[in-house]
Amino acid sequence: MSREGETSLSEFEAAVRKFLARGERSVDPKRYRAAIDSLDGDFSVVARDAQKIGEHLVSGNITAASWIARTCGMSITSAADRLCVGEQLESLTKVAAALASGEVGYQSVSALCHLREQLGEKGCLFDEEEMLGFAREHSVSELRKICNYARHVADPDGFFSDAEESFSRRRLHISQMLDGLFRVDGLLDPVSGAAFKTAVDVLAKRKGLEDERIHSQRMADAVGELALHAMEQGTLPRRHSVKPHINLTMTLEALKGELGVPPADLELSLPISTRTAERLACDCTMSRVLLADSMVIDVGRATRTVSPPTMRALRVRDKGCRFPGCDRQVNWSNPHHIIAWSRGGPGNLPNLVLLCYYHHRLVHEGGWQVIKSGREFRFMPPDRVVMRRARGPGLRWAA
Ligand SMILES: [Zn+2]
Ligand SMILES: [Zn+2]
Repeated sequence: MSREGETSLSEFEAAVRKFLARGERSVDPKRYRAAIDSLDGDFSVVARDAQKIGEHLVSGNITAASWIARTCGMSITSAADRLCVGEQLESLTKVAAALASGEVGYQSVSALCHLREQLGEKGCLFDEEEMLGFAREHSVSELRKICNYARHVADPDGFFSDAEESFSRRRLHISQMLDGLFRVDGLLDPVSGAAFKTAVDVLAKRKGLEDERIHSQRMADAVGELALHAMEQGTLPRRHSVKPHINLTMTLEALKGELGVPPADLELSLPISTRTAERLACDCTMSRVLLADSMVIDVGRATRTVSPPTMRALRVRDKGCRFPGCDRQVNWSNPHHIIAWSRGGPGNLPNLVLLCYYHHRLVHEGGWQVIKSGREFRFMPPDRVVMRRARGPGLRWAA
């Protein structure tokens, strides 16, 4: 860099310090941003010039992006972005002038420069005047979409190979933490991601005014509901010729919540609470195990806590979750024993009610009570005495 440049930079730094120390705080944000963006464009050209003369090689860096990133305290992505803009602005003189004058912002210019770079040998198809027109008229996100579209039209093969490269980055990790919770982290391809988001969004809607869950909690519940639904529908591929299911291991004494007995144990997981075990026992397959001196001497035939004929009758009677205002249909609901199965509650129609995943949990873990009153059900919150009637025609959260 020349001494003249360094002198100008010192003057500029002094001007910035003076500006930052100004007494009057209010400035026009549009003009302020335009000034910063035009500087960012100039910085990109400076970074590119340094790359051309190989300054990064002198300091032992393999790439100019890593050198800029380290020297200027930027991420590699940001540094690579400036280098791309700097390189493209050398030939996109109209775009460079529009950025310098504040006519278009840095992010819009960056979108145009990346498009031009992606086009490679087909760069001659880039119509600078037309693309600059789009940058003036559209927001940054709209312009990015236009650039993607233009890329697809001009270079379908390149677009395809980029999309395939993005697709190869898909991943999903599910790991269990020490407290039993599962951590989920990943990247989905555009089609799977859109399908997943659509399905989860539908299930994550707030369930009435009394639903106190925050959005992220509703999203997490929706993922669980989606997985349980898929398992319960029995349409998932069999594994080792068995339908996918969750195993619960426990003694009847544990289910009854008796003191001093070992807790229930969920497959691949930590022990679970008696209330949760009781919820799972509302609709599961049980096998009676006979023990003698801690040795298993007999395992009875596996039977469901609600027999298939009773289940069919219950589905016809309730048609979906019976909690007032709930929209879950029959296929998204499970039987709940009003008097718990472990406390001798029978698996017959008068003792059963259909509840969705969320409301079933609300009853067991959330302490709500279900009271049968004739042909209707009343749901009573744990800390209130106000009775709520089950849904009837047109009834919604009615007291
Ligand atoms: Zn239940
Ligand atoms: Zn419900």
